[in-house]
Amino acid sequence: MDLASLKAFLENQMPKALELLRQMVQINSFTANAEGVNRLGRFTAQQFSGLGFEAEFVSSTNPGWGNHLAMTRRGRSGRCIALIAHLDTVFPPEEELANNFQWLVEGDRAFGPGTLDIKGGTAMMWLVLTALQARAPSLFDEITWKLFWNSSEERLSPDFEQVCRQRLEHTPLAVLVFEAENRRNGCSLLVAARKGRATWKVTVTGRGAHAGGNLKQGANAILQLARTVQQIEALTDFTKHLTFNVATVRGGSVLNRVPHEAVAQGEFRAFSPQVCQEAKAALLKLSGPGEVRSLADHYACQVTAEITSESRAWPRNPGTERLLALWTETAAQQGKSVLAEERGGLSDGNGFWDLAPTLDGLGPWGENDHCSQRSPDGSKLPEFVEISSFVPKALLNVVAISKLLA
Ligand SMILES: [Zn+2]
Repeated sequence: MDLASLKAFLENQMPKALELLRQMVQINSFTANAEGVNRLGRFTAQQFSGLGFEAEFVSSTNPGWGNHLAMTRRGRSGRCIALIAHLDTVFPPEEELANNFQWLVEGDRAFGPGTLDIKGGTAMMWLVLTALQARAPSLFDEITWKLFWNSSEERLSPDFEQVCRQRLEHTPLAVLVFEAENRRNGCSLLVAARKGRATWKVTVTGRGAHAGGNLKQGANAILQLARTVQQIEALTDFTKHLTFNVATVRGGSVLNRVPHEAVAQGEFRAFSPQVCQEAKAALLKLSGPGEVRSLADHYACQVTAEITSESRAWPRNPGTERLLALWTETAAQQGKSVLAEERGGLSDGNGFWDLAPTLDGLGPWGENDHCSQRSPDGSKLPEFVEISSFVPKALLNVVAISKLLA
């Protein structure tokens, strides 16, 4: 593939890609705005139908969320590539209105809800596929392309992974995730691992008692919880990249009672599935009688620890390393350098690395994702995507994908 002419082609397509992005950004697709998510899904399907893709809308198991979008373009061979993004954003319509957060181009920056996370990623997918169809038509026609958009990625959709897996008749050669690129000292970072996450809840039941007349009878649940949360925080182990966060606590009722119940909730994260397993076991081991007892008869507070949700870790693995090597080598040939990044945050990549080689961070670059506010002095800026980051990244993605298929 001639790089200069491919670059010129991509540059030619940029006005269309930006217009596509502008229209996507104008549709509010907050996760809980199912109608908006569905509208964006239909709009997205239209755009990719121009490339020969057929759309299927799959309802979410949560009735409050919109439909997932699956698109297929069947190729001559069974060789398959899956591309993944999501439809939803974290911005409710009221917040967009209150902060006047909408599509706005200032110089090289396009501000707006989802410009970076992840509508810019969808625009990148369109750019990459358009280029492959135009510049490598026989390759494009040979491959079976599967595109998936999660309706509720920002809320960790529990059913999206299954929706995708059921529609992958052949194990894909690669699962490519179009979350935004990060940079370190100007160097592009691709995501090669992401932490797993579990949320937990710890409930302490004590024994209520009259605070004035019968304090010794009480077993103070808050006092016990205060000790238990310290034990939980102590499970953090930075040498294992394991972090525990005690995020909320509540307990007690009125001031003249020894509190009989207290609850803490939080999460933990780690890269290694093994470390996640150990962390889970350590947390669950806190269940049982606590150290806090009533002075009257040693009645013990009862601690109950439970896991409320789990998302699998995506550790470094050979499949991801192969893709990473391909992208790194391609970047070097284009005079750029890219590095691998291990991110603490989750993405849909967590659900696929053990099915097929997975690489993430293939979207454009920008900053301030999930922020909608702008301060007068410019110290706080909302989410934006850098317009000039599209073409170089698309160039990298297109060439790396064609090498993968060659
Ligand atoms: Zn995202």
